[in-house]
Amino acid sequence: MLIQTPKGTKDILPSEVYKWQYIEKKISELCKSFGYREIRIPVFEYTELFTRSVGDTTDIVQKEMYTFQDKGGRSLTLRPEGTAGVVRSYIENGMASWPMPVKLYYNITAYRQENVQKGRYREFHQFGVECFGSKGPLVDVEIISMVSMFLDKLGIKDVELNINSIGCPNCRGEYNKKLLEYFKPHLDNLCGTCKSRYERNPLRIIDCKEEKCKVYTKDAPALLDNLCEECKEHFEGLKEGLENLGIKYNIDKTIVRGLDYYTKTVFEFVSKNIGAQGTVCGGGRYDGLIKECGGTDTPGIGFAIGLERLLMVMAGQGIEIPNPDPVDVYIATIGEKAQKYAQKLVYRIRQEGFSAETDLMDRSVKAQMKYADKLGAVYSLVIGDNEVESNKAVLKNMLTGETKDISLDTLIERLKM
Ligand code: ATP
Ligand code: MG
Repeated sequence: MLIQTPKGTKDILPSEVYKWQYIEKKISELCKSFGYREIRIPVFEYTELFTRSVGDTTDIVQKEMYTFQDKGGRSLTLRPEGTAGVVRSYIENGMASWPMPVKLYYNITAYRQENVQKGRYREFHQFGVECFGSKGPLVDVEIISMVSMFLDKLGIKDVELNINSIGCPNCRGEYNKKLLEYFKPHLDNLCGTCKSRYERNPLRIIDCKEEKCKVYTKDAPALLDNLCEECKEHFEGLKEGLENLGIKYNIDKTIVRGLDYYTKTVFEFVSKNIGAQGTVCGGGRYDGLIKECGGTDTPGIGFAIGLERLLMVMAGQGIEIPNPDPVDVYIATIGEKAQKYAQKLVYRIRQEGFSAETDLMDRSVKAQMKYADKLGAVYSLVIGDNEVESNKAVLKNMLTGETKDISLDTLIERLKM
């Protein structure tokens, strides 16, 4: 039996990888202009980090984590998302003493044991940012505007922004009572997981993906209608800021997000054109998280964009990504002398920063030229004994078919033109 990639994982082949490199370049440009610096965190962490931060009543922790014991008997988990690791690093590295706010971004793989379908994988890529230290809605607006600008710069048009507020521990107390009251008569009809959530974290029921729970969750009371004064004001500030920047939004009272750490602002960017998995970006504020993980009380906010879904949206809209990899020049050879000559010439061309190829397969000139064509070489040259002796050759423009007699000494100068 051939060994294949594990379910829900994929190779990214050279014929696709330029798209990823293009997105990565756009990410680093965007983050530079918004003042975010890159952080790289480990692929696995102690399991406790995720149970504490993501929350032990969430789908991620209850159903989706890749958790294993290492040989020392420690429980480790492949990161299901990026925020927890970045928060751990913020605390561990004393970033609270850095100039505030601390602005970080990451571009990572993440791991969740999910039902694999279009746009839903077990290893996937997330670009995310986190901003620590600022509690007002200004930073919420900045973060959301960053996603909106990113989508604009990629030429993406059909994605909508939905916002909501899920309040703070202050508003949750009263609200939880209302939720318990609402769900009580339906308790027997909810899924097993939600039955236990009823006791521990009723808000989680609203985010359940089971059909039998969705029947009831759609009419459940919304947190947005039950905010305390401070949270109301914050939400007003968010809306004003978005309007100030001309960013269009919808208010969606049903957004809860799949992670426990969110407070106040939550948002999603959704495409209607790629099917059920249309959420390209999810984010929100998490003012209690750093304290919960053992740091000093510090507000924070962030988002994560799923890159597979982003690429799906781009493909769906027919957005072309430029392939930057043509070979500048192919040097075909006839005979051993020419081979040695070409070996040096190719080396010099590469030293100058151009891409050059020559035969490594001992093929006929005809086969070499066919190969040059497949590589998409812009120029080609054929070198034999005569060319070595005279130091002259015919330079062919492979795109136009045009040819020119040149002195080989001038080749690099010509490539620079
Ligand atoms: P969903 O509701 O689609 O399950 P989520 O709420 O679990 O998303 P987050 O944890 O907020 O998603 O992750 C942020 C983004 O990462 C999502 O908006 C999505 O684009 C992407 N994402 C999440 N899970 C997957 C997955 N299994 N495969 C591919 N992309 C994913
Ligand atoms: Mg999910």
